[in-house]
Amino acid sequence: MGTEVVLSSPTGDSLLENGVRHCVDDICVPVKLFYGHVLDLAERCDVLFVSRLVSVEKAEVATYTCPKLIGLPDMVKSSIEGIPRMVEFVVDLQEHSIRSSAKRLATALGVPQPRVRSSLAEAELVQAAYDEKLLAGVEPEEAMRQVLGNGNGTGNGGKDSSARKPGAGRARKPDIKIALVGHEYLIHDHYISHNLPAKLKRFGADVTYMTQVPIEVIESELARYPGISWSYEKELLGAASHFLGRSDIDGVIIVMGFACGPDSIISEIITREVVTEASPPLTTLVLDEHTGEAGVDTRVEAFVDLIRRSRNRS
Ligand code: SF4
Repeated sequence: MGTEVVLSSPTGDSLLENGVRHCVDDICVPVKLFYGHVLDLAERCDVLFVSRLVSVEKAEVATYTCPKLIGLPDMVKSSIEGIPRMVEFVVDLQEHSIRSSAKRLATALGVPQPRVRSSLAEAELVQAAYDEKLLAGVEPEEAMRQVLGNGNGTGNGGKDSSARKPGAGRARKPDIKIALVGHEYLIHDHYISHNLPAKLKRFGADVTYMTQVPIEVIESELARYPGISWSYEKELLGAASHFLGRSDIDGVIIVMGFACGPDSIISEIITREVVTEASPPLTTLVLDEHTGEAGVDTRVEAFVDLIRRSRNRS
């Protein structure tokens, strides 16, 4: 829509600490991170863009994202003082089309309405190209770089020296395959996940993400688990069910953010109702702001060892 875009810096110590300081204690760790990213941008932009994700699919039975994602703009506005004017992009496919949300956004930004059609068409092409990359196994950050290119007009602060680089360390030749199930904003935040995908590769695992599972496959898995009304949790459940039934997957890790209510329920459903005797080993990794790198290393190494030992025994 003709605006200059500035991105927040990669997560690091000070960004997280800032976020934690402005949040209530019992909120999930991704929201704490989000607050940190808002504060990181506060003095570097004129307008703050925040999505309000209400419903992301148009289904016969309405589904919703999660109360935190629905109320995120209100939470930020009510608890952080001195931030720039905020514009919302509301995704509520049960009630409105994306086009009508884009028109409202244009009005809020003072962009002429005729520009909406071409901007939206361009955005849809970029989104489709990005989704295709994810399906092919490209990690989100790299997929975005490939789709948008480097000269895309986005400025990134990226100054925090404690931010972790993706893929640090040398990988050993993979001899097992591990599927990761969890929100992308956790798994692919290199700081909070302690570079989990790269760590697994270093321990000799080939990593598969739930973004590599086509939506039709997830839908067909979900036919066995009706009645879940949280869209993103449905994706987790469908992907876990798919991975746990695949003979080429040696292990599944559920990655959860501490204090996430929906995740804690869905991981129980996976453990109690999806796992069978034939399923590959499953473990859950809960991440929060206090999770140390050594703790993640130990859990991951032990899981990888267990898989190799049980495979050698059989
Ligand atoms: S789904 Fe869970 S982790 Fe994500 S915003 Fe909601 S409560 Fe937080």
